[in-house]
Amino acid sequence: MTPQTIFYSIITILLLDFIVDKILDYLNAKNFDRPVPKELNDVYDEGEYKKSQAYKKTNYKFSNISSLYSLMLTLAFFFLDGFEFVDKLARGISNNEIAVTLIFFGTILLAGDILTIPFSYYHTFVIEEKFGFNKMSKKTFFLDKLKGWLMMIVLGGGILSLVIWFYMLTGADFWIYAWALVAVFTVLINMFYSNLIVPLFNKQTPLQDGSLRSKIEAYAQKVGFELDNVFVIDGSKRSTKANAYFSGFGKQKRITLFDTLIKDLEEDEIVAVLAHEVGHYKRRHIIFNITASVVLTGLTLYLLSLFINIPELSLAIGVKQPSFHAGLIAFGILYSPISEITGLIMNYFSRKFEYQADDYAKETYAPLPLITSLKKLSKNSLSNLTPHPAYVFVHYSHPTLLERFKNLSAQH
Ligand SMILES: [Zn+2]
Repeated sequence: MTPQTIFYSIITILLLDFIVDKILDYLNAKNFDRPVPKELNDVYDEGEYKKSQAYKKTNYKFSNISSLYSLMLTLAFFFLDGFEFVDKLARGISNNEIAVTLIFFGTILLAGDILTIPFSYYHTFVIEEKFGFNKMSKKTFFLDKLKGWLMMIVLGGGILSLVIWFYMLTGADFWIYAWALVAVFTVLINMFYSNLIVPLFNKQTPLQDGSLRSKIEAYAQKVGFELDNVFVIDGSKRSTKANAYFSGFGKQKRITLFDTLIKDLEEDEIVAVLAHEVGHYKRRHIIFNITASVVLTGLTLYLLSLFINIPELSLAIGVKQPSFHAGLIAFGILYSPISEITGLIMNYFSRKFEYQADDYAKETYAPLPLITSLKKLSKNSLSNLTPHPAYVFVHYSHPTLLERFKNLSAQH
């Protein structure tokens, strides 16, 4: 294939990806005004429902404008030889291949992030603010950005440097070493996520004494989950939206409840949500996800090793001196249809796991408080109760509220 054919394949993939995404958004938006299923009639009252409709429509418009802007930026970068410009810039600063790669990706990612800051700022301080969700100060917003960049430099930069180094030492075999590195990193990050990453952004405290703690203790004892592994996080620092999640494994496993969740729900509803999270642990969903991610990484790196030596990849994106980093950009986009498919499969499994966790809560605790908690959480985040099935199939990591309601209220 000539560099030109590859170039137009890349542009086609970028455009198709955008178009498919917009069609799904459009189908979903057409469903906004459909009647709410009778099972979910009690989620909103009239006023709240109107508010939720306005929220969905505002977000739909916003997403159209911001994704069009991102597409335009990307296409401009491709057609105006942006990659060649940044490559030359990096080579002007250093002769070391690792340094050149770091400067190359660092510049592109940083510039991309800065150029989209106005959009994330508008989303937080205008849209989320208007609908009463935002609790973030401007200071937190910018500190989050800085911390995100710092993490990307340390973790992303560290891993990338090692991968390039493996490539320089072993050529096409680099993928085996890179795979081992990423696998170890994935396991460690999952294990220490709550101890190393979360504290950079949030405060976590053990559950306080009181009736909630006693109820959780009674449940935890019944199913054999240690109460020491239950924490409360200050989600209210950023948003009124509530959440809970399970993370880690072995001794590092923990369930994290947002302070907003504790504020919004009754005690038995909180225990039901906790029971759902224990279900994720008991059904080994984290282990499955880590394994799947390691296998997929291996596949991706192997394919990368087959293509990375082809100079046409670098030439296709306009970079005259073929290199690992330029090849990686081209490969990344050519590979994206495959990662879209693996993403669909992972979402399918994720929805299956949500049913399993709901079933676990239903069997070991009770279905009713989980149903009422899901309804309250949907109401408080102005959730869409009538999503389009195609949109759900592609984007949803959780079943819809209606599907979860039906599953939880079914008699087995
Ligand atoms: Zn879940």
